[in-house]
Amino acid sequence: MLYITSFSNYSEFQEIFGVREFDGKKSRKNKILLSLLKDKKLFKETVKSGDLTLFSFKNLVSLRNYLLHKITVSGAKSKKLNHQIQLLGRYYYSDKYRLDELDGICEDGTPNAVRYINLESGRVFKMKCGKFYKHLIESTRFGQKLNETLVIWLCEEFNMEWQAHAIGMLPKNKLYINDNFADIYNSSRLKGYDEDSDSFISCMVDKDYYNFYKYSVKAKAAYLEDEKGMIIARCIIFPEVYDQDDNVWRYAERQYSYKCNDIYKRALVDALIQAGEIDCFKKIGASCHEPNAIVDINGNSLADKKFRIDCELDWEDTLSYQDTFKYYSMHDREANNYCGSYSLEVTEGSLANADEDSESEPDEYDSYHDRDAWEVCTVYYHGSEETCDVEDREDFLLFNGKWYHEDDLMECPKCGKKMLNPEYWVEDKDYFHGEYTNQDYCCEDCRDKAELEYKEENMFYSDYDDEWYDNKSDVVVYRHFSHITGDYEDQTISRESLLDKLESGEMYEWGGQYFDVINEEVGKPYGYETLLEFAA
Ligand SMILES: [Zn+2]
Repeated sequence: MLYITSFSNYSEFQEIFGVREFDGKKSRKNKILLSLLKDKKLFKETVKSGDLTLFSFKNLVSLRNYLLHKITVSGAKSKKLNHQIQLLGRYYYSDKYRLDELDGICEDGTPNAVRYINLESGRVFKMKCGKFYKHLIESTRFGQKLNETLVIWLCEEFNMEWQAHAIGMLPKNKLYINDNFADIYNSSRLKGYDEDSDSFISCMVDKDYYNFYKYSVKAKAAYLEDEKGMIIARCIIFPEVYDQDDNVWRYAERQYSYKCNDIYKRALVDALIQAGEIDCFKKIGASCHEPNAIVDINGNSLADKKFRIDCELDWEDTLSYQDTFKYYSMHDREANNYCGSYSLEVTEGSLANADEDSESEPDEYDSYHDRDAWEVCTVYYHGSEETCDVEDREDFLLFNGKWYHEDDLMECPKCGKKMLNPEYWVEDKDYFHGEYTNQDYCCEDCRDKAELEYKEENMFYSDYDDEWYDNKSDVVVYRHFSHITGDYEDQTISRESLLDKLESGEMYEWGGQYFDVINEEVGKPYGYETLLEFAA
């Protein structure tokens, strides 16, 4: 365990490798990383080598980068592997093969193969890209140490990337970026389109709703055409997307492809990245219900960004279904991926149509009013959670980002700030109770201030006891001798303490007044020595 730094205890292990459920299937997270840790042979050799980096990875992207780097270095060191092969920006070394001027792309357009020259015969061949890649890995000393799970995984990743690259690179496939939205939504332009097949399954095809992209938002159409001029992948680019810090991003989304194949979508995205047209894109394979599944062109997640675009959409205007900028504020003329008063997940062509269509069947339940509603949200009423029609929330107030019933909130009696009413939210302990005022306050400070004011107005303070008393007669004034000024000053003491002190001889009565210090030699207070005693 000492050598494995990718997790330091059981909970971190669970976090990285724990069982997760995906599409109803249970599997361990990061099986690949785990296979690495379980590999005793590799483990031994790595420990022997003294470099334990291999056991420090918490995610597959970094692991893969590290492995590929080691494979390159190991290949470069070998005297036997003297032909350099460049694939997808990385160098590999082989003693059997090399590439020609086509850099591995097959002339006939086969995307899942690599074109190469056999060094022995000098002739050109093509090989399935996964197999070719496996050969390159296993030619190196480092690659020979890797277990099968890791090798297969590296080959699968390469296979996917290579195919996408090959499709984008093929001279027969051309990238277009323009405002030809009509084409990308026209089934006769889409390769293999058939309503029943899963090619380009977008409910917006042939609907003529694409004018949304022309008139309501800033957008471009982007697509790859094959040699017959048919579209094999298409998407929408939003060239002016703002995040919460007002940075501008160029974003590609709504990727659709021939046979719904992710490789074509990837090829389109790759081509756009190469052409320098985008900064981020909707993660390929993400569902339309994930408005945050956005990654930058280096694969980093941008899920924490709040993205927005300008959008000029009126009630009757043509609207094409949106799955990232799906919340719309008509007032701000803005669509974004986090909140808004209208949903643009509309298949009916406009907000007006969507409203009409759904009029017959409100399908949400408003438990607060006990009736159906178009759209509800969670509200808090008398201490419990309910749902409420978003159009009918006047009994509720927004507090700390949640909607509370007006009874569930109160004003702090000291500062007037809104706070949860402890009558309903006593368990939240979000209030401070004043013992003397018998009221609840928003914070300790307000409570203490209010309590002090109450005491000053209604009670009597004893300096000596540092206590407050209910009745005036409970507290008596006495003369307190200050050693600093050498004089007496008025202070208060409770009657109870005074009696105790007089009894124990720590307090003195003289001339109808009480003193805490006297000149004991003469039995009179200081400065009173020459005076006659009144009482005498
Ligand atoms: Zn307060």
